[in-house]
Amino acid sequence: MRNEQIAQTLEAYAGLLDLAGAGYYTVRAYRRAAELVRETRAPVAELVRAGRVRELRGIGPGIERRLQELVATGKLEELEELEREVEPQLVALGRLVGLGPQRMVALGRELGVRTADELRAAAEAGRLREAKGIGPETERKIVAGLARERPRRRRGLLLNRARALAAAIAQELDGEIAGEVRRWRDVVYELAIVSRAPDAFVRLEASPTVVAIVERDDARAVGVTVEGIPVEVVAAPPGSFGTALVRATGSREYVDALEPLPGAPTEDAVYAALGLPWCPPELREAPLGGEPPRLVELADIRGDLHCHTDWSDGKATVSEMAIAARDLGYDYVAICDHTPNVRVVPGLDADALRRQADEIAAVNEELAPFRVLRGTECDIRADGTLDLPDDVLAELDWVQLSLHAGQRQSEDVLTRKVTEAMRHPAVRCLSHPKGRIINHRPPNALQLDRVIEVALEEGIALETNGLPDRLDLRDEEVRLAVDAGVPIVCSTDAHSVRGLGNMSLSVATARRGWATAADVLNTRGLDEVLGLRRR
Ligand SMILES: [Zn+2]
Ligand SMILES: [Zn+2]
Repeated sequence: MRNEQIAQTLEAYAGLLDLAGAGYYTVRAYRRAAELVRETRAPVAELVRAGRVRELRGIGPGIERRLQELVATGKLEELEELEREVEPQLVALGRLVGLGPQRMVALGRELGVRTADELRAAAEAGRLREAKGIGPETERKIVAGLARERPRRRRGLLLNRARALAAAIAQELDGEIAGEVRRWRDVVYELAIVSRAPDAFVRLEASPTVVAIVERDDARAVGVTVEGIPVEVVAAPPGSFGTALVRATGSREYVDALEPLPGAPTEDAVYAALGLPWCPPELREAPLGGEPPRLVELADIRGDLHCHTDWSDGKATVSEMAIAARDLGYDYVAICDHTPNVRVVPGLDADALRRQADEIAAVNEELAPFRVLRGTECDIRADGTLDLPDDVLAELDWVQLSLHAGQRQSEDVLTRKVTEAMRHPAVRCLSHPKGRIINHRPPNALQLDRVIEVALEEGIALETNGLPDRLDLRDEEVRLAVDAGVPIVCSTDAHSVRGLGNMSLSVATARRGWATAADVLNTRGLDEVLGLRRR
């Protein structure tokens, strides 16, 4: 059994556990295990057989037991049981009308109902009230849910997951990704696909990714994924494909300002007919006055300035990260492992950093002219000082400053602490300044305008962190920094070789903040990057 197959089974299991109402942490543990298996280079099946799979970080006894079953029998009994029990289609329908999984499955079985249309018919016939435990209140809720134009999720999908889902469906339907995903929004509530297939809706019905279709007419249909995310599918004939793509990409405000749109086969032709320059999807949140700027592109990026190795909580060695960065076409990469204050993961003190220097020197010798920078993600301590002694900070090529604890402190305390730490002469860049974790922690109270002032005074860059649950600075904050003239650094904060691929998320976030290549420090050569504070 290949790693990819194991990962897919674990993911499917996580999805069904989620539908069955299992706890958030359980579901996350399986999702993470799936990711881990996918990233592991050794054949995981062999590790399982050798009884060594728990050496992988994040694999506990429960997951190990299921891996043993999977490797031995090629299947997971519990997964099959859940599939029988959970009925993804009914659960998705429950999400649509605001009923929990168990309740919706019970109701569906009692009424013999499986689709939105059947449920609607049952409601119209007044049959809902016959069902056990459905009072007038719940009946009203279900009817209102069915009438609502579109199901709305409380919690959106992270952009990386949304992109993967949208890409899978687009492929199934021979279509193009549109909507929020094409605009690279940080959180996605709805997917949109424009399909050129004459049998688009037949394909949609057969899609393993979409579990229920909740609306349908001649030109469009709305399905729901196993996560409860609505998917709008537009079937467009070749002659007006471009027009459909502009409309489905949105945003609604942006498109409304362009209407009426001419019918045209490509987007370029639509814009040409309107007498307007083509507009990057990232800027289509609101009507655009005038010409769009030439935004920074992934191909402009010449190095990654924030990544981790197995010296702290990363999964790969210095050499593996460096080779992967070089293979992405970069000229440089900065190794920025944590410092001791971060506590929840191993951090490097001055001694460890100096030992790491030897390893970095050896890799540099091997990979020249590619350059591995000695860096750190240095914590700001509770008292506002930096978590490393000055002499070692002065030796380093690249110092990222990070606040990991105390994110909930008051505006005054936080802003004072961070801006004072920024005055340290070794600091080059402030990591994930607002400290948000999407869906889990709101942004901190840090006063960004004050941080921007100090960054300007000190010649420090601000990061757009590419971790899918951070994307911090976010779009509008990037724009504030760019307008003020503060350099942006697009980084991945990668903890694995695969994580280096998140540069596209960071760059897209910078693009949504109107950043051009000139605004992004790591589009430049190493001399300029290292010259940032040498005045
Ligand atoms: Zn960090
Ligand atoms: Zn980091």
